[in-house]
Amino acid sequence: CGIVGYIGHRDAFDILVKGLHRLEYRGYDSSGVALVNGADELHVYKAKGKVSDLEHAAEGKDCSGTVGIAHTRWATHGEPSVRNAHPHVSNSGNLVIVHNGIIENFALLRDQLKQRGFHFNSDTDTEVLVNLIEYAQQTHHCNLAEAVRHALRKCIGAYAIAVLDQRDPRTLVAARKGSPMVIGIGENDSEFFIASDATPIAEYTKNVVYVDDEQIAVCHPGQPLDITDLRNQHVDVSVKTIDMD
Ligand code: GLU
Repeated sequence: CGIVGYIGHRDAFDILVKGLHRLEYRGYDSSGVALVNGADELHVYKAKGKVSDLEHAAEGKDCSGTVGIAHTRWATHGEPSVRNAHPHVSNSGNLVIVHNGIIENFALLRDQLKQRGFHFNSDTDTEVLVNLIEYAQQTHHCNLAEAVRHALRKCIGAYAIAVLDQRDPRTLVAARKGSPMVIGIGENDSEFFIASDATPIAEYTKNVVYVDDEQIAVCHPGQPLDITDLRNQHVDVSVKTIDMD
């Protein structure tokens, strides 16, 4: 299983799908991609099976946009199917997430969200997380990174996530605990690449940051990568160089 994310000035779709192919070795049963186009419209495509099946599913559709997230899934909660494939969209339709790992207390969180009027279209723990982030946005009237922090503080388990809000497509938020995540930094902070390992990133940039457990990274082209922890303390960003040997 794996995640890929891109935000910058290039077409995201090709980078994301190529990245998924590079992560195929990690194993998966389905895959998907979400993109926000130039008109701030969110498009999500998913397929059961291979990444090439996803490419067929997206054929002839609007795959434009310079920001997006993608996923190869190894099912833990809910059978392998298009319905359970990531990315998962929140109830409002604004937030979209990809997630590797397991939210262990998802059933309790889902019950609490149901009591507050949320509904669920999949059997995954991941759809609970994206709606928990949405609920945090609604109750705290905060930005996406803050909402992700509020939500993750309620979660028990492992995660590598990338989250996007179609109302603010210049910001991509990533976080991890237990599951791996690397962020590639383009020239002059003009673009950012998120991935489960460095293989989808290496051809674009040699400058990478290994995100630590319980850290939240905000990727905003034109600004330096911003990393905070779950207590909202700033973390020194240590940029490493990928060794091509
Ligand atoms: N627990 C999530 C699911 O079953 C993510 C699985 C994964 O890591 O791919 O959908």
